[in-house]
Amino acid sequence: MPQTVIRRVGLFGGTFDPPHVGHLVTAVNVRHALNLDLVVLMVAHDPWQKSFERGVTRALDRLALVEAAVSNVEGLVAGRDEIDRGGPSFTADTLETMSLKYPDAQLFTIVGDDAAAGLPTWERVESVVAQSQLVVVDRPGVSVQLPTQFEWLRVESPRLEVSSTDLRARFTDGRPLDYLVTAPVLAEIEKRGLYGVGGRIS
Ligand code: ATP
Ligand code: MG
Repeated sequence: MPQTVIRRVGLFGGTFDPPHVGHLVTAVNVRHALNLDLVVLMVAHDPWQKSFERGVTRALDRLALVEAAVSNVEGLVAGRDEIDRGGPSFTADTLETMSLKYPDAQLFTIVGDDAAAGLPTWERVESVVAQSQLVVVDRPGVSVQLPTQFEWLRVESPRLEVSSTDLRARFTDGRPLDYLVTAPVLAEIEKRGLYGVGGRIS
């Protein structure tokens, strides 16, 4: 069978601690809107802007959760390049790895509105801009304020009010996670005993 040529690839990076339906709705809608062959949910090895503030779940556990999240979702894949590289995760480096992997592809760096505002603080942001087209995900009808020194593509997608931070709190105090996290992710969390879940049900 002839191999499909991968021409348009989105990079959607995150800590994914854990991955939730907000991430998936975004990835699927951006893929559709920009006609991307693939969206890579890239799991940060060491999210350097977060890891000072709190303990982050082990990278390989978060990767397993993202793999569960994208299983059977067409056009979405889990990315492990940042974990394999080790050290702090910089998107500029990740794009270089991706352009080796997909040599004929145009790359798109996809960020949510909160992450877009922080773009000027990214390591070697000029390299990110040189290597990829920036994409920001807008709530329908609402255009977020963006750092004006960059050129952005805007894609509208429903912004579900769910965050990994809230989900971790829900695990801790036993509130329901139904419909916020997909079933395969929940099963993987239970299997690995993450977020205190194993302790609670055993
Ligand atoms: P945390 O609460 O720990 O910050 P998070 O839910 O924001 O986690 P991240 O892993 O930090 O998830 O985010 C990865 C990417 O997903 C970022 O670009 C962020 O803007 C985007 N994102 C986060 N939450 C949502 C959501 N509910 N809908 C759409 N995109 C989201
Ligand atoms: Mg966040």
